[in-house]
Amino acid sequence: MWDMPPPYKARSESLILMVLRILNKRMKLTEDEQRYYQNQEKGFQGEVQFDILTEKLKRSSYILNDLQLESNKSSFQLDSSLIFQDTYSLFDVKNFEGEYVYGDEYFKTISGRDFQNPLDQLKRSKLLLSQLLQTLGSKLTVEAYVIFINPQFTLYQTPPDLPFILPTKLDSFMKKLDQGPSRLNDSHKTLADKLISLHQTVPPYTHLPSYEYDQLRKGITCKKCLSFSVSVQGKRVICHSCGFEEMVTSAVLRMVGEFSLLFPDRKITTNIIHEWCRVGISKKTISRTLGKYLMVKGVHQWTYYEWKVDK
Ligand SMILES: [Zn+2]
Repeated sequence: MWDMPPPYKARSESLILMVLRILNKRMKLTEDEQRYYQNQEKGFQGEVQFDILTEKLKRSSYILNDLQLESNKSSFQLDSSLIFQDTYSLFDVKNFEGEYVYGDEYFKTISGRDFQNPLDQLKRSKLLLSQLLQTLGSKLTVEAYVIFINPQFTLYQTPPDLPFILPTKLDSFMKKLDQGPSRLNDSHKTLADKLISLHQTVPPYTHLPSYEYDQLRKGITCKKCLSFSVSVQGKRVICHSCGFEEMVTSAVLRMVGEFSLLFPDRKITTNIIHEWCRVGISKKTISRTLGKYLMVKGVHQWTYYEWKVDK
């Protein structure tokens, strides 16, 4: 029996979502930015929900979560893919909530908050992936579905025969997906490895709000509840909102992580991290932490630090 291995390519938050999370606590997002951030967050949660279902499948497959690929100079993104013996199943996961009426271009609500019909996007991804598989010499048939993962989603007047899996059909769909031939060989593994190697880790930062260092709120935030209300006691950072305690070293490294994610081009120095963390941690402690966990570059007052490659 297939013993449920972890996904061949695991999912992690996109860079965009990670940056938005940091910005959301350090600056005031506009209403549009806030909505965009919430959508990203919700989309990610939906994908994680679907991962739980794909990982339960007993039929052998390579699970590739979140691939950003290019074919014919067009980029496309696959939320979730399963490589089976004869088929490549790709899934676009939507975490829509509420009642909608189907429309060719938009799903409409009474409140007027419409969503674009994901069908065109799905067709595009399917076509681009088929072309890519062909150039890679794979003969797998591509099947593509939109998964509506949220049980609170209803879509009225959905035409039949669309590759849409509504919440009420999800259970039986997953059962059906679990049937069928399941012998994998080297060619499947080669294909999975090739797609992972083609995955573009840095998508364009096109939708990010603009931000400047000076406008962002400085300080260490609690790892658990994100509060700025923390203080340093000995070797620990204590949160006054939820009581969570974290070692100073770990909190400092977490803050350096946020800093370098927001400002990939800026040099990491003791002074800047001291200012970024703000609470009572001495420059000595910060420089010792940076020196221990990052690579030291430059000398004396020109010292700065870089993440080791296996960050
Ligand atoms: Zn807290």
